Amino acid sequence: MSRPLLVPLCCPKCGSDLDGGPHALIFLCLPCGLAIHASDPRRPYSLSFAAPLLRQAAPDLYAPFWKVEGSFTWSTQDPKKERVYANQRPLGTLFVPAFWSPKAAYYDNLTLRYALQGGPQRLDGAAGPVLDGARPPEVLGELARLTWLAYLDRAADVTGVEGRFQVEDLSYAAIPFYRDGARFLDGILGVPVPEAYFSG
Ligand SMILES: [Zn+2]
Repeated sequence: MSRPLLVPLCCPKCGSDLDGGPHALIFLCLPCGLAIHASDPRRPYSLSFAAPLLRQAAPDLYAPFWKVEGSFTWSTQDPKKERVYANQRPLGTLFVPAFWSPKAAYYDNLTLRYALQGGPQRLDGAAGPVLDGARPPEVLGELARLTWLAYLDRAADVTGVEGRFQVEDLSYAAIPFYRDGARFLDGILGVPVPEAYFSG
């Protein structure tokens, strides 16, 4: 197994070495609040820490998510579907896990729950160690498009429906989680996820 990186990355703003564990493809400068994907070190993304809403204590871990802002449009030849979709509550900001997880179903669950019930609102939490992130930013537009289509599909079958997602802003958000026995609860909505969610 060769390491994907042959040159050490340093922060484009302050020049310090970046933080990242053995599985990281996304590296962080905590003092500058920047996240840098190894594929394009010249393009830093803003890094913020979500403040826990449910507890005051320091979280047991921070998991990294891409915060995806943008707009989704769809077109269909079917006026009935058009009406059904127009009546769906629009999804809010999408938080897409940036870490690798064997529990893929929970991806959709948390992303959708945040998009419908309100994800992290305050991104001024205290910094702490963050799990390794790997998901490249290039795939987020397509993932956002698929998330929207899967959401609309619950209301009416999206076969033949065209969907387009335009990414308007991307940033990197560390979301607090708390250990609760053999599972974790996210610090925003209290959604339980199994331990294996984080065993990347
Ligand atoms: Zn820096």
